[in-house]
Amino acid sequence: MKRILIVHYGEIGLKKANKPYFVEKLRKQLKYKLEKKFREVFSVKHVLSRFMIELPEGFVEEEYVKVVERIFGIKNFKFSFVGSVDLEKLGEQIVAELPEARPESFRVKVKRSMILDMRSIDYERELGAIVLRSGFEVAVKMKAAELIIDVELFNQDGYFSMKKYKGAGGLSANSQGKLICLMSSGIDSPVAAYMMMRRGARVIFAHFHGYPYTDKDEMEQVQELVEILSDYQFDTKLYLIPFGFIQKAIATNLEIPGKVRTVLYRRIMLKISEQISRKEKANGLVTGESFGQVASQTPQNIFAIHDAVNVPILPPLIGMDKDEVIAIAERIGTFAISKLPCKDACSSFMPKSPELKANVHELRRYEENLPLAEWMEKALSDAEVKMY
Ligand code: ATP
Ligand code: MG
Repeated sequence: MKRILIVHYGEIGLKKANKPYFVEKLRKQLKYKLEKKFREVFSVKHVLSRFMIELPEGFVEEEYVKVVERIFGIKNFKFSFVGSVDLEKLGEQIVAELPEARPESFRVKVKRSMILDMRSIDYERELGAIVLRSGFEVAVKMKAAELIIDVELFNQDGYFSMKKYKGAGGLSANSQGKLICLMSSGIDSPVAAYMMMRRGARVIFAHFHGYPYTDKDEMEQVQELVEILSDYQFDTKLYLIPFGFIQKAIATNLEIPGKVRTVLYRRIMLKISEQISRKEKANGLVTGESFGQVASQTPQNIFAIHDAVNVPILPPLIGMDKDEVIAIAERIGTFAISKLPCKDACSSFMPKSPELKANVHELRRYEENLPLAEWMEKALSDAEVKMY
């Protein structure tokens, strides 16, 4: 039987005048990701508030799930059989596709977007009766049935499937402009990037590394993380920015007390990211900061760090607990990589007891005596840019 992928969207369906904009972004993302993965042409049609994509013969469902479950804007999707709109015929077609392993309970669920002389509920009852008559000896359960035979009647066809997959939610990829994410190899920043991508931002990554003062492990970890996250958006850019020379200069500067170093490093990272955001015409920056989580994230320090730039900074994890962040990291597959121990750019030039209440005026005074403009130019011109 002919098979078709039916995709329903969530929040973007609630948009009013802007709906076509989001629908088109989602359509493009579906087409792009499927074509990139399976190397053939897909026609993605928008019909009555859902997408329909014809599936090639012999398609492997799990392979498609891996692609589609990473596309934002989707509420659910299913690999439907293209059946008849005629009740008896449709019933026979469903019977022919029933799973061999008997579930504990089942029901038929019908949704129609076409004019028919029977109500959806009558279709459900009749189709259920046909299934039972075929020798499918399984209890009918209206609530929480194990097998839900999902039927959609529209377009002069009867589409049915036995399994519905949950979509990734959020808004269509690339629908909200660009953001620059300050990306470490830690647990938090990959989750922060994921959350902003989920809201439709196109995220460009900036990682500050200590190489050659540290080994390349951290940089490699970051690249692995970015590769995982790149599945969620169109194409992905990563800036690998040398930062060790700046940390070294600050750590060996006798005028600067050890305890303010971490906050100063963060300010300079933000300043360089601000320049990238202007160059990339992005709307702002993203960090993995969470209120009070570590010494550099006391309220005073967060404000003293954010003071360094004039672009908006979005920290989507700001009000979250660590275990909530970890749960997301596990679900999206970044946790296993993030938690590998590695020497991060900051820890090698880290003070023993960091400042907990940084003073903005003091920090600005230290910066006045540093060749910041020169450092920033060098860091950016020596940065390596990778595409995924
Ligand atoms: P993460 O788990 O994201 O590393 P964290 O809990 O370790 O965060 P901090 O080390 O205080 O917290 O870092 C706060 C934020 O600063 C990070 O979430 C990230 O956005 C940014 N950041 C820290 N180190 C780097 C780096 N080497 N390159 C780019 N951004 C960084
Ligand atoms: Mg970190």
